[in-house]
Amino acid sequence: ERSMEDFDPEIARMIGSEERRQRVGLELIASENFASKAVRQVLGSCLTNKYSEGNVGRRYYGGNAFIDQIETLCMKRALDLYELDTEEWGVNVQPYSGSPANFAVYTALLNPHDRIMGLDLPSGGHLTHGFQTPKKKVSATSVYFESMPYVVSADTGLVNYDDMEKRAKMFLPKLLIAGGSAYPREWDYSRMRQIADSVGAKLMVDMAHISGLVAGKVAESPFPYADVVTSTTHKTLRGPRSGMIFARREYIDAVNSAVFPSLQGGPHNQQIGALAVALKEATEPDFLKYTKDVIANAKALAAGLEKRGHVLATGGTDNHLMLWNVRQLGLTGSKVEKVLDLASITTNKNSIPGDTSALNPGGVRLGTPALTSRGMSENDFEKVAEFLHRGSEIALKAEHVAELELDRDNGQSKVLLKHFVA
Ligand code: PLP
Repeated sequence: ERSMEDFDPEIARMIGSEERRQRVGLELIASENFASKAVRQVLGSCLTNKYSEGNVGRRYYGGNAFIDQIETLCMKRALDLYELDTEEWGVNVQPYSGSPANFAVYTALLNPHDRIMGLDLPSGGHLTHGFQTPKKKVSATSVYFESMPYVVSADTGLVNYDDMEKRAKMFLPKLLIAGGSAYPREWDYSRMRQIADSVGAKLMVDMAHISGLVAGKVAESPFPYADVVTSTTHKTLRGPRSGMIFARREYIDAVNSAVFPSLQGGPHNQQIGALAVALKEATEPDFLKYTKDVIANAKALAAGLEKRGHVLATGGTDNHLMLWNVRQLGLTGSKVEKVLDLASITTNKNSIPGDTSALNPGGVRLGTPALTSRGMSENDFEKVAEFLHRGSEIALKAEHVAELELDRDNGQSKVLLKHFVA
């Protein structure tokens, strides 16, 4: 058989460049990680060839004896990792990713146009938690369901639970959603459970960002409080890109039929196999140490930035990510992101509490999971803080990012300043 290199050198070259970019750069995107060789092997395996619509033992295609074994093992490992009693909890490992997992929960638990309440996107929530603007229903979750978000306080950056309670009593959501994409602090699940109960809502926790930290017991487990827990599997959990839904027994049948046949067709078995491997990896002592290091490194990065006079939303972090306030330096998140990109430091612009424009956010989101996977320690993150600081100084001096040129000599990027020396 022809190899990728022989048959399609164009794609092979591009993948080679991406591989080099990942290797030489400093990856600080909070939602990214480096999956292991074993995980990547399964993703490229023959599992990608098989159709297996349906659930274990009840498939719409023949030839699924081994696929059934793989999915059964994946589900067992998922429930075991979070120490869940199978009398109380079930799991579905078929969602193609985090967004489809969330939509499947809404499909399972709600009727069209029922009300949902999640953290607003500019406050650090995810699109799929009902995001809309006054002009546009951006996420399909706000088209098919009625959404009123809760928010963080502009002054503290912390979720305002009192305000959440007020809004919930006014709006009477059927589903209250905890979790976010850019929230650097621990959640008060117990308070949210109380609020949900007080208005007759179910509580869903989207632990996508922190599922690895929950597995490592360095973040609080949402399971004692939630009715349903969703997750991606490629962030702190360090698996393939995929999704999982954990549901209390009374909801699992509805969740299963929402995933298939309501929303999806054949499961991506290569992802399910790879997820099984990642879930096994997450039980190893090395992974537990990894999750502790992710948090220690985030604290070191936060301290390094603060030492250099920088300001972080909420004043720091409890988890793997932080929001760097560059607005108070007179910068925009997009400018800082671009300047850092030129220096092979990968971040993303992000809104911070108090931003007035979602299009031009005043913050940069930084996370430690990926570089911690590459073995970086607190000392290394002290250096990363220095690089970020220098990046912000360059951004302050450069009137336009166009003044910065990129020299892609051998894929090594160097910041060349026309007017300033880095
Ligand atoms: N939920 C949260 C909290 C997320 O941060 C993300 C991704 O960033 C998702 C869901 C969606 O995951 P995916 O991009 O895999 O669809």
